[in-house]
Amino acid sequence: MTIQGIVQGVGFRPFVYRLAVDAGLTGWVRNTPSGVFLEVQGAEEQLNSFLADLSKKTPPLAVISSIASAEIPTVKESAFLILKSGGGENSIQIAPDGDVCPDCLGELFDPSDRRYRYPFINCTNCGPRYTIITGVPYDRPFTTMASFPLCPQCRAEYENPLDRRFHAQPVACPVCGPRLELLDAGGRAVAADPLETAISLLREGKILAIKGLGGYHLAVDACNAEAVRELRTRKKRDEKPFAIMSSDLAEVAGYAEFDQTEQRLLEGVEKPIVLLRKRPGNRIAPLVAPANGYFGVMLPSTPLHHLLLKDTFHALVMTSGNLSDEPIAYRDEDARERLQGIADYYLIHDRGIHTRTDDSVIRVFQGNTIFLRRSRGYVPRAIVLPSSQKSVLAVGAELKGAVCLTRTDQAFLSQHIGDLRNDAVLRSLEETVAHLEQILAIRPDVVAHDLHPDYLSTVYAQGLEDLPRIPVQHHHAHLASCMAENRLEGETIGVIFDGTGYGSDGTIWGGEFLVGGYQSFRRWGHFRQVPMPGGDAAVREPFRMAFAYLHAAFGAGLYDLPLPFLDEIPAEHRKLFLSMVERRINSPLTSSCGRLFDAAAALVGLRNRVSYEGQAAIELEALAEESETCHVYPFDIHQEGEGTTIDFGPLFRALVRESAEGRERAALARAFHNTLAAASAAVCDSIRKETGLERVVLSGGVFQNKLLTEGILSLLTAEGFQVYLQRLAPPNDGGLALGQAIIAGRSI
Ligand code: ZN
Ligand code: ZN
Ligand code: FE
Repeated sequence: MTIQGIVQGVGFRPFVYRLAVDAGLTGWVRNTPSGVFLEVQGAEEQLNSFLADLSKKTPPLAVISSIASAEIPTVKESAFLILKSGGGENSIQIAPDGDVCPDCLGELFDPSDRRYRYPFINCTNCGPRYTIITGVPYDRPFTTMASFPLCPQCRAEYENPLDRRFHAQPVACPVCGPRLELLDAGGRAVAADPLETAISLLREGKILAIKGLGGYHLAVDACNAEAVRELRTRKKRDEKPFAIMSSDLAEVAGYAEFDQTEQRLLEGVEKPIVLLRKRPGNRIAPLVAPANGYFGVMLPSTPLHHLLLKDTFHALVMTSGNLSDEPIAYRDEDARERLQGIADYYLIHDRGIHTRTDDSVIRVFQGNTIFLRRSRGYVPRAIVLPSSQKSVLAVGAELKGAVCLTRTDQAFLSQHIGDLRNDAVLRSLEETVAHLEQILAIRPDVVAHDLHPDYLSTVYAQGLEDLPRIPVQHHHAHLASCMAENRLEGETIGVIFDGTGYGSDGTIWGGEFLVGGYQSFRRWGHFRQVPMPGGDAAVREPFRMAFAYLHAAFGAGLYDLPLPFLDEIPAEHRKLFLSMVERRINSPLTSSCGRLFDAAAALVGLRNRVSYEGQAAIELEALAEESETCHVYPFDIHQEGEGTTIDFGPLFRALVRESAEGRERAALARAFHNTLAAASAAVCDSIRKETGLERVVLSGGVFQNKLLTEGILSLLTAEGFQVYLQRLAPPNDGGLALGQAIIAGRSI
C-alpha cells in the first residue's frame, strides 16, 4: 500500500505498526519519497480490520489524501518491522502545529506523572511542528529542539515503537527539555516560580507578554476593565477587537454563543480564533471588542495556556504581541525590544520559534468556514488543485500578505505574513519563500505576482531574475482562487468585491463582475467609478467617500443637505473639497466595493474615520444585523460601451432622504446590504442571459461580510445559480496567491 497526505512526522509509522501488531499481521512500513509504503500479510479477516482501522483511527495530526493498494504473493516472515526511510523528498508534507492531545493533557494534570505541570509536554499526536522545523528531513536535529539532548528516560520513549512518543521530535521533560522563565520589564529574571507568579501578576491586572507556539501574545485578565483599557492605551489608538482565550467551552458559554460547527472548530487540533456572537450581560470588559457584536475566541493551544487558565480566569485577552499593524513578534530579543513599554513582564522559554505564525481567524457561515486569516494550525497543509501543474511561486498582493507554492496538484499557502508596507515585512516574505521551498523541496518554474507595479511583492518577484514572471490581475486572481479550491473548470461568473486592486486599465477596481476561468477573463461589469478625494486619505477617512458618492448624486448641492458628516469639512475647505473632486486633483477613480461600504457607513453616521482597514464595513454589518427589513433601495444598471455599470446614485439619494426623515440607522444599514445583494443578482442574471453561465464564484475581502454573502447567496440560489464560496482559503487578499498560482500554472 502507498499512503499519501500528511503522513510523516505525525506518528504514522508507529500507528501502522501498532495496528499491524494488534491484528497479528506481519510485514513492514517505511517512509518513501511518495508517501508511506507498507506491506502486510495475514488472514483476510485480519487484513480487513487493519484496513478499516487505518482510515478510521488515523492519528490526530495526520491527513490521508489517498491510499493505493495491490495484492502481491506472500513471503516467509515472522514479524512486523519499521524500516529506515528511503531517500528522496518529492512528496514531503509537513504537519501544522497542533494542540495538546487528550493523553498528554491527562499527564499534564496527573501529580504522579513525571511531566506533571510541564509546559512543554507533547507526543507524536500533538505539539509544535511547522513553527520549530528548521530544515529537512523532519528530524530532531532540524528543529529548534536540536539544542536539548534527550535524557535516558525520554530517549527510551523516543526509541520504543510501542510508545506514544516514538520518534516524536519535540519530546522533552523537566529534566532535559525547555524551561519557563519570568522576566520583569527591564529583562531581569524573577526568582519565584514563573507560572504561579505569572498567574498572580495577571490577577493583579498586569500586562504579560507570553511566548506561544508561533509568536508572542500580550495577555491581561479579560474581565479587568482597567487592565484592558491600559493595554489598549499602550498598544496605541488601536480599536481592533482583542482575541480572548478561555480554558474550555463551559467558560466560553458564559460570554458567547456558539453552534455545533463553531464548537467543532473551537475544539479542533488547529485551535483557531473563532468569531462568536456576544452573549448579553457578559462579564468581559467592553473594551475587549468595542462597537462589535462578536468576540474572537480561542481555546488553549499549548500546555502552557492550559496551565495558565485552568481554574484561574474566566478569560484572558490574548492579542498578538505587536504594535498595531506590525506582524507578531516571535524572536526573543526582538519581542523584548518591540514590546518595551507595553508588557510589564515576559513569560518566556528557551524553545526557539523558527517560523512565526499568527493565530488563524475564522467566521462560520451556514455551517461553512470563512477564513479571515489562515495561519497557525492550518499551515502548511496542502490545498488540492483540480489538476497537476508546473511548480509556481505566487507572491500575493500587498495587504494580508501570504505566498503560495505549488507542487504537482498541491498548493501550499503560507502563513499570514502581514501587510507588505515596509522592509521588515518584505524580509519576512523572502524568508518564508526560502523556508517553504526548502522544507517542501520545491523549485518553482515560474513566479506569479500582482499587476500593481509598486507593490513590494511585485518588486520582489521582479528581482527573481532567473524565473519567468507572470503578472496576474488582482480580481482575476480572486476569481481563480475561489474556482481552484472548489475544483471548477471552464468559465464562471465572478462576483468579486474588495477594497482595492490594480485594474487592467490602471484605475482602482473593487466592485467587479467578471466572466472567465484560469486562462482569461473579461470585465463584464463594475460599480460606477467615483473619485477618492485625497487618495489614501479616503481609506482612513470614510467621510471623504460619502462626499464623493453624494457629489455624484447631488453635485455641489450636497452642501445644502442636512448631513452631520459634512461638519468634518470646515467652511474654508468646502470649495477645495469640491474642486478636488470636480477637477480630480489627487482623487483617483475607483469602483471599489470597500469604499462604497465606507461611504454608506459615514452617511448613516457610524464613523468618519477608521483606525484599521475594513472597520467601517464591519460596524455597518453589525448595525444592519439589528434590523430585519427587506427593503431594497433603487439602483441603475447602464450599458456603457463594452461593459455594464452599476450606479448607486439612487441608493444614496434614498439614504439621504430616509435619514432626513429620521428612519432608524439599523434599517438604513440593512437596506444598503439588501440593495447590494439585489444589484449583484440582477447583474448575474443579465450575464447568464447572454452567456448561459450558471456558476457564480464569490470572492474578495467584502465576502467576510456574512450578511451580504447570505443575501447574494439566497437570491442567486433561488434563481437557479450554483454559487461557490471560499472555505479553504481566505476570500480576502490572504487567499490571493492561490489564484495567482493556478492562473500562472495553467499558462505555462
Ligand atoms: Zn500528545
Ligand atoms: Zn527528558
Ligand atoms: Fe483583493
